[in-house]
Amino acid sequence: MTVRCPDCGLLYVPDSLEDARYHRSFHAETVNGLRARSIKTDSVIFAEGNLRITVVSPFSPIAQRRRAERVAVLANRETPFDFAAYDASEPPDERDVHVFLVYERDRAIGLLVVEKCRRVCRCSWPEWEANEKPEELSDHPPIWTVCMLWVLARHRRRGLATALLQAGARHVGADVESMAWYPPFTEPGEALARACCPRTFYLAK
Ligand SMILES: [Zn+2]
Repeated sequence: MTVRCPDCGLLYVPDSLEDARYHRSFHAETVNGLRARSIKTDSVIFAEGNLRITVVSPFSPIAQRRRAERVAVLANRETPFDFAAYDASEPPDERDVHVFLVYERDRAIGLLVVEKCRRVCRCSWPEWEANEKPEELSDHPPIWTVCMLWVLARHRRRGLATALLQAGARHVGADVESMAWYPPFTEPGEALARACCPRTFYLAK
């Protein structure tokens, strides 16, 4: 008989050994985060207690980029969006995609994906609510943009997303309030964007 795990959402057959084994690892990843021991090539930009944040750039070793991609898959599982938040095999380009991973002990529990975007507009929150799209700013220099920001469900409401965003912004030399945001927003994502940019914000296209 097929059942759906109430915690990780996987459909599986508990009586099948293979299924049960697959469920165990899927469940642990979905609920506790991706197992990711610190490795020699980690580029740690923040460490405090059991928490650390690493950065993965287009020029990071492939093992680092693959890890970032696996965390991005976890993030996709938990959000309604079906686009891949990060692709480890993409060659470096002008977007200069950076991924920041947050870990607790040996589990990756959150990620931030940022890239430089040229096509932005300045949007107020009332305009956003009314679904009005202000005109694109012409000849605007590329602006660091939040593409994906995600923290594992059981680690939310600890300020981790904000800490991750601040660490990432500092690393690329941007101010959080002058970064752009890629729509769509999840509800907590919009709340964070509003907290960072109370009146107007850069909306990336
Ligand atoms: Zn499960």
